[in-house]
Amino acid sequence: MSEIQTTKCDLAVIGSGLAGIAAAVFASQNGIDTCQIGVSGGILYASGYLDLMGVHPVEDRKIWVNPWEAIDALVRDVPNHPYAYLSKADISQSLDQFADFMADTGLPYKKNENQNVAVVTPVGTVKSTYSVPVSMWNGVPALADGRPCLIVDFWGLKGFSALQITEMLKPRWPDLRAVRIAFPSVDLSIDLYPERMARSMEVDDNIVMLADEVRPNLNGAQVVGFPAILGMNTTERIIRRLKDLLDCDVFEIPTIPPSIPGLRIKENVETVLSARGVRIFGQKRVICAKQNKEGGFLLDIGDFTDGKPEHRLEADGVILASGRFLGMGLHAGRKKIRETLFDLPVFQPADRSSWHRKNFFDPCGHGINRSGLEIDDSFRPLNQSKKPAFDNVFAAGSILAHQDWIRQKCGAGLSISTAYAAVRSFMRHMQR
Ligand SMILES: Cc1cc2nc3c(=O)[nH]c(=O)nc-3n(C[C@H](O)[C@H](O)[C@H](O)COP(=O)(O)OP(=O)(O)OC[C@H]3O[C@@H](n4cnc5c(N)ncnc54)[C@H](O)[C@@H]3O)c2cc1C
Repeated sequence: MSEIQTTKCDLAVIGSGLAGIAAAVFASQNGIDTCQIGVSGGILYASGYLDLMGVHPVEDRKIWVNPWEAIDALVRDVPNHPYAYLSKADISQSLDQFADFMADTGLPYKKNENQNVAVVTPVGTVKSTYSVPVSMWNGVPALADGRPCLIVDFWGLKGFSALQITEMLKPRWPDLRAVRIAFPSVDLSIDLYPERMARSMEVDDNIVMLADEVRPNLNGAQVVGFPAILGMNTTERIIRRLKDLLDCDVFEIPTIPPSIPGLRIKENVETVLSARGVRIFGQKRVICAKQNKEGGFLLDIGDFTDGKPEHRLEADGVILASGRFLGMGLHAGRKKIRETLFDLPVFQPADRSSWHRKNFFDPCGHGINRSGLEIDDSFRPLNQSKKPAFDNVFAAGSILAHQDWIRQKCGAGLSISTAYAAVRSFMRHMQR
């Protein structure tokens, strides 16, 4: 068998969910020679909204308008939450730096400084979030002010119903109407796939045809909401064009997975990162990690299904952003939850009977959803003796213990800010 090729780098980022993406972004901004490995993570399911901190305590379902006050209260009550290892200035800086990068990729974000905003979900409920893709922003004032609005869906598009959204929102948004139309130049009898729809919207003729279908249904609407399929790479341009053609504001509403906003982030970010020299091993996994004599890491990369190494990385340090159960950074066996790559100790409930509460919808959440890696204040995972397991392994994102990002509504904020801190700690380590 021929020798597998070896690539050397300063930093290996393991994971290409939001935490891995953010770590690769911050590393590249700091000129670190970086490789990134991972199959598509939760990002492909994500709405595109960037939550910072919305709900605490989860058992009271207390929703906060000011995310920073929410973080203060959270850190007081849960002193080992990952946010407790960060200053507010760092969290804020990380979000701003990430947003600047997103704008460079053509996916700008918008927020009200220090204030969560209410946004529409794919099923017509309302949630609060912090930073919103500009393509979705016009929905924020429209919902807040109840502006006359038309929600559009398409024959053949499954999992997005304008009627469901309008029925759900009617009590708080009476001036909301739904219409179902044909997607431009597509046979009505076939199923529509969001990715194909988004790519076809890049063609100007299709934008014009879409506007022609929508226009007769406006009937006084000042704003029009579409499922988030308005392009893959030039969404801002497409929305501006539709605004001109319809003479009213336009916004996107996330769809259920597969999520085009998530796919856009992944595609656009990876394109820019590759151009800036980050080497990306997409749709691959690290199947084995060993420390070498110098203290660096040898990482064998391959396809998880056959377990055969195809490539070897030699890295001075690692950021582990491998997620929880969905990303497969953690594995729940019959009795124990394990970290899958370095076999790091995992904070978890004492036994399996306490993983879940009896009621699946219990507002307190489930013990298993706070399991993960405990860290020191440099974001290094701890060993059994509560000391850093390695000098040069740092962890970020949902793999971290003592947080329930889904219920606390802090998914993106947690991923981005802990990735920022992990990169900074790696840089300090390199300077020593
Ligand atoms: C349905 C859904 C909706 C969401 N909606 C929102 C929202 O509205 N707002 C918000 O703020 N956040 C949202 N999020 C959360 C957000 O997108 C992030 O998924 C979350 O914050 C955790 O990201 P992560 O990178 O830590 O983990 P993951 O996304 O799970 O990524 C883990 C990555 O690690 C990789 N990996 C694991 N093991 C290995 C290995 N051995 N080698 C190489 N790679 C490995 C995986 O392939 C994957 O790429 C949503 C997530 C989901 C699933």
